[in-house]
Amino acid sequence: MQTLNRQKTIYAFSAANEPALRVSPGETVTLETYDCFTDQIQSADQEVAQIDWNQINPATGPVFIEGAKPGHALKVTIDKLEIGSQGVMVTGPDLGVMGHRMEKMESKIVPIQDGKAVFSENIRLPLNPMIGVIGVAPEGEPVSCGTPGAHGGNMDTKEINEGATLYFPVFTEGALFAAGDFHAAMGDGEVSVSGIEVPGRVTVTFDLEENLHLNYPLLVNDGGIALLVSAMTLDEAVKTATEEMIDFLLPHTDLSVSEMTMLMSAACHVQISQVVDPLVTVRFFVPRHILDSLDVRLSG
Ligand code: CA
Ligand code: ZN
Repeated sequence: MQTLNRQKTIYAFSAANEPALRVSPGETVTLETYDCFTDQIQSADQEVAQIDWNQINPATGPVFIEGAKPGHALKVTIDKLEIGSQGVMVTGPDLGVMGHRMEKMESKIVPIQDGKAVFSENIRLPLNPMIGVIGVAPEGEPVSCGTPGAHGGNMDTKEINEGATLYFPVFTEGALFAAGDFHAAMGDGEVSVSGIEVPGRVTVTFDLEENLHLNYPLLVNDGGIALLVSAMTLDEAVKTATEEMIDFLLPHTDLSVSEMTMLMSAACHVQISQVVDPLVTVRFFVPRHILDSLDVRLSG
């Protein structure tokens, strides 16, 4: 199994990036990552404003998957996700939902101890190691690793964790996959602008689905499936995610659009991933029992 170390870093997803590694479908690789600040914040007394803000959201890669072509879907299974022993959080003026109440940039070191994130002496949080930035090269212009989109990127979705499978639309030869920005835990919304940011190591297996045509990343886990849609506003993201999911499921059934919409309304969920990145991200979630009823099968 090949390992890609964290010196192989991109700051934007782009078709022009040189591959750091080439793999065949079916191969498993391990990627090592810095945290989203390139590990620049190591102690509580450090001035956050003084770090190099050009080194934000590094993603390890890109990995060229042989045979991947525009129109395919790249299947990425997260086999294992390991995180470092110290996390960091930040917030500040004009950042996140509460930025208007902040007077200066602040950071907080959050040690990871005994399977918990130690927020303070008496507040210990359960871990949910997850990946903030994960995706493929986009169509057209490069997209900064800080911005999410149809190619994935900074989706900050807490379901992107060990055991999950993601399908990305492929826009360029080889797909050019990369990942970074791991969180020890994060709440839906990511309201301060950061999760508990940690370095780490992820092991993923790649496959190609030549007949799965997606416009947005699709997440599959034990619970069900979710389309991950990023847009300028929550209104727009909710509308697109709902409509895309309905259009994705309709060909599998003999339901009318109105019946399918009622089914979605009765049993499926609009959920918010994050509201703090340059585009917001929502997911439209369909539970496994609905997929079973509709006889929709996706491996994951
Ligand atoms: Ca992020
Ligand atoms: Zn992050």
